[in-house]
Amino acid sequence: MNTDPFHILKTIYGYDTFRGQQADIVQHVIAGNNAFVLMPTGGGKSLCYQIPALSRPGMGLVVSPLIALMVDQVAALRQAGVRAEALNSNLSPDERRALWADIRGGKVSILYAAPETLLKPDVLDSLQNVQLSLIAIDEAHCLSQWGHDFRPPYRQLDLLIERFPDTPRMALTATADEPTRAEILEHMRIEGSDAFIAGFDRPNIRYAIMEKDNPRAQVKRFLRDHQDESGIIYCLSKRKTEETAEWLRSEGYDALSYHAGMDRDQREANQTRFQHGEAIIMVATIAFGMGIDKPDVRFVIHIDLPSSIEAYYQETGRAGRDGLPSDVLMLYGSEDIALRNRFIEGSDAPDQRKHMERQKLDALLGLAETAGCRRQALLSYFGDSCEPCNNCDTCAEPPELFDGTIAAQKILSCIYRTGERFGQAYIISVLLGADDERISRFGHDQITTYGIGKEHDNRTWRAILRQLIASRLLEVDLEGHGGLSISETGRQFLREKPALMLRKPQAPRPAIRGQKSQ
Ligand code: ADP
Ligand code: ZN
Repeated sequence: MNTDPFHILKTIYGYDTFRGQQADIVQHVIAGNNAFVLMPTGGGKSLCYQIPALSRPGMGLVVSPLIALMVDQVAALRQAGVRAEALNSNLSPDERRALWADIRGGKVSILYAAPETLLKPDVLDSLQNVQLSLIAIDEAHCLSQWGHDFRPPYRQLDLLIERFPDTPRMALTATADEPTRAEILEHMRIEGSDAFIAGFDRPNIRYAIMEKDNPRAQVKRFLRDHQDESGIIYCLSKRKTEETAEWLRSEGYDALSYHAGMDRDQREANQTRFQHGEAIIMVATIAFGMGIDKPDVRFVIHIDLPSSIEAYYQETGRAGRDGLPSDVLMLYGSEDIALRNRFIEGSDAPDQRKHMERQKLDALLGLAETAGCRRQALLSYFGDSCEPCNNCDTCAEPPELFDGTIAAQKILSCIYRTGERFGQAYIISVLLGADDERISRFGHDQITTYGIGKEHDNRTWRAILRQLIASRLLEVDLEGHGGLSISETGRQFLREKPALMLRKPQAPRPAIRGQKSQ
């Protein structure tokens, strides 16, 4: 077989050129190096491990979290003439024996397996005698303990490093903020110099976020511009997915629901219909997600607040994989925020985790309330940047602003004078001049910023604070107790005092136009 990656690209996949960093990644791994690959959904991660697997001698081993995902990949490879197999629990003993005979005979080019299956001692032992071209861990963010897709068996994948120390390892994901990235690299012992990080931007997605007033009316208005298109609506609860789907059917839409409480056959049937059908709206909980490979999802709506910016990015990322214009809408209301808060406070998670969750919620609200371009805010969360995009709701209709310079100065100076270690609630209490035992104990009722913020109420101050966090004037201590400190940008702001425009907290949201982006 011809092992030239360009030849493989052309003959097996029928493409003339590699996209983005694909060529670099493929060559890097073919040369025997490890790689971490971060690429947005639709970026073309599969080729990055499949081509080196076919080019290097031996069988490529691919770890994937879901059977459905493996089945699709295997089917696509087989269609292209590649002998790919999935090692999963659905195989009969006979099938299993036959598969292992073929693997040992060197007939299988790429083997997919879920971590639970792969890490069984007998499977590992059998693999020991097989030449492996590489080990690829797909959806690698599943190993992050703090992530929203944590799958405990992923944590044990580091066993593979000891078993196959000389085999190149790849970890691939479409979603990973800085801490998650670091966690993956450390856990899988991949050097930072082996990381390939593509931009996060999904230029064909038009972002819109609105305060929730009448969700059904808002959804209806949005859908008017998406007749005869397929899309996903995410809800928080199982019941709500069913109620919403039923309502949509009564409105004449072809709507299905999907959640973990449904029986498996029904769930799979719905997924298959959505995957292959046209103009179907899937109303789902986040159980519906990984492994959806429908290229023409034209819209994604979050009827309820997602759990974090990463979750939002990943869920909205299911729109527009084909690169054509797609619309996403998120609705958020104060009940959602209260519910999330209660959820965080009521969980048995360790304190550190709760702080992290609170911080993630704040970052998400910062995105929802930003006065600037949504895309800029979203990308900056992932350490990426762009110009104002002209393809989001705030770019299209800038929200009403107010001069927040004085308010920001008050907050920053209050944080400074209280020693840069207190959290939001405390800082706001000081600004409001609250009669509070802790405040008097620390003597903070004696400082100049005590009670200087009575012109705004608690809710307004919170909204302002969130915007300062979102625009990185403030930093939140993630490891500790959520203490706020002033960032380098914040110090510069205090020195230079430039005018700072913020979004008016009570301002009505701009009406969503819902039309397709140009
Ligand atoms: P990801 O796993 O990153 O979401 P995929 O690997 O599924 O993305 O690829 C997304 C789509 O892009 C697929 O339809 C794939 O065939 C296509 N694609 C990938 N690489 C190329 C390329 N070099 N040229 C053209 N199309 C490509
Ligand atoms: Zn924008």
